Order: sequence, then structure tokens, then C-alpha cells
Amino acid sequence: MPLVEGITYAHEHTTIDLSSLKHTEDTNLNCFEETVKEYKKLYEKGVRNVVDVTVRGMKRNPEYVQRVAEASGMNILQSTGWYQDKFLPEYIYEKSVEELAQMMIDDIQKGIDGTSIKAELIGEIGTSKNEMTERERKVFEAAVFAQKETGVPITTHTTLGTYGKEQVEFFKEQGADLSKIVIGHVDLTGDTQYVLDLLKEGVYVEFDTVGKENYMPDATRLEMLKSIEKAGYTDKVFLSMDITRRSHLEYKDGLGYSFLLDSFIPLLREGGLSEGFIQKMLVHNPRAFYPSY
Ligand SMILES: [Zn+2]
Repeated sequence: MPLVEGITYAHEHTTIDLSSLKHTEDTNLNCFEETVKEYKKLYEKGVRNVVDVTVRGMKRNPEYVQRVAEASGMNILQSTGWYQDKFLPEYIYEKSVEELAQMMIDDIQKGIDGTSIKAELIGEIGTSKNEMTERERKVFEAAVFAQKETGVPITTHTTLGTYGKEQVEFFKEQGADLSKIVIGHVDLTGDTQYVLDLLKEGVYVEFDTVGKENYMPDATRLEMLKSIEKAGYTDKVFLSMDITRRSHLEYKDGLGYSFLLDSFIPLLREGGLSEGFIQKMLVHNPRAFYPSY
């Protein structure tokens, strides 16, 4: 469904399973009741939309996600595409760019994996740390092809924030519409100038790993956002937490989805970020970017 009025979490995974490579059951996030409980809690706090960026190779499960949406009241946008190299299926080698694009177009126009649930965005499509592998390049080419055909937005994964600039260069070369692209995980760079350079190209960016202090302190996220506001790029930033593990949820004593609203937003306010910028990131910017009612 298109975005509805209210707060949007721009980069989440309602259910995701990366345990085949990460070798821990913690990365098999399929806690239906607990997720519904947390989404309901978010709803009470004014969150109306979750952009679910789970793609092929992450055990995408469109019907499960729809059941969570129905049980929680949350509007959840679902996606198509493939993730970074390590999680790409063998057939990426064999299929042509056009064939891969067609698989995405079918998810968007007909329904994901033969269901009637249509994908409304592409991604997260990803690059590896400091490189775009040959197979990732193929996925990116196919994504641009599918975007031109359907007009849906593209959201990307950067590994620890690296290779964002190269992603933008790639999209420019391919003639993609940069105003329909959001570069993910840029907060993990800790590098404000880097993020400003991306914004100057006309893409959107995501501070989507809020609360992951072991990767980047939230205090750094605050400082980066202050500089972005000062530079006048408040219209192109989204927020999210990228919850992917059972241990990120409240029932396992993780931060839980509410942390962004209950702790991170107050940190931004105390740190001097304007209320206008905060509301743009939570509400207005995602609605300008994604199809909306
Ligand atoms: Zn990611």
C-alpha cells in the first residue's frame, strides 16, 4: 500500500533469515507475536508505515508480512530485488540483466513470488565493503532497468556505509532518476562530508542504523544530522533502525523498535536539532519519496 499520513520507519525487516551465512539462529528473525506487539506499540506512538526492505535471498515472506500488517494495523511496503554478493543465488550468473529485471517487474506489477502482494520498491540492493562485485553490478543494472519500466523507488545497502559515492556514480552513468534513489546506512560512515557529497548529487540518504552503538554512537549520528541541517539538506534524510535479529527485540532485552522515538528523537531535540527537521525525517521526507495517499 502507498504510504499513509504518519511516521515512517524507512528501512526494516519484518522477517528476515540470514542464518545460513551468519551461522546463528539469532539472525533468523521470525517472531510473529513479538513483532506484532512492537508494531502495535509503534502505532500507538504515531507510526503508520514501515518500509520493509527484505529482498530475495533473505527468506522474504510476503504473506507473513501481510499478516503482521493486518494484525498490527501497520502499513507495510514490500520490496523486490537481491541483496549483496554473499547472499546472491547462483542464477544471477546465468540469467541476463533483462531476465533479472523482468523478475522484479513481475513482483511489482503482478505480485511477489506468485502472490497478489505487489512490491512497491526495489531493494535493499547492495554492494560489498569497498567494492561492487560483478554480480552486484548485474543486480544494480537490472534494478535501473526495472525502475525505468515501473517508476518505483530504489533503496540501497552499503556495507558499513562504504561505496555510496560509487553507487551514485553508477546510477548517473545508467541514467537513473536520482530523485528516486535512497542510499542506505550512510550513518555508519561517521563522515558528514561524505554524506553531504551524496546529498549534493540529488539522492536521498538514510540514517537507518539508529541505536547500533557498537557500529556508530548515536552521539555521532546527532552531530552528523546537525551539520546536514546547517548545510540546508533537510529534505532528503530518512530514519530507521534496521532491526534484523531476535536480540534486537524487546522480549530479548534488545532496544526494540520504540527506541528511535523514545530515546533517539529526544537526544536529537536536546542536541539542538530543529523540530522541523525531525518531523521531515519522520513524516514528510518519506512521503515525498514513496508513493503516498
Ligand atoms: Zn542493509
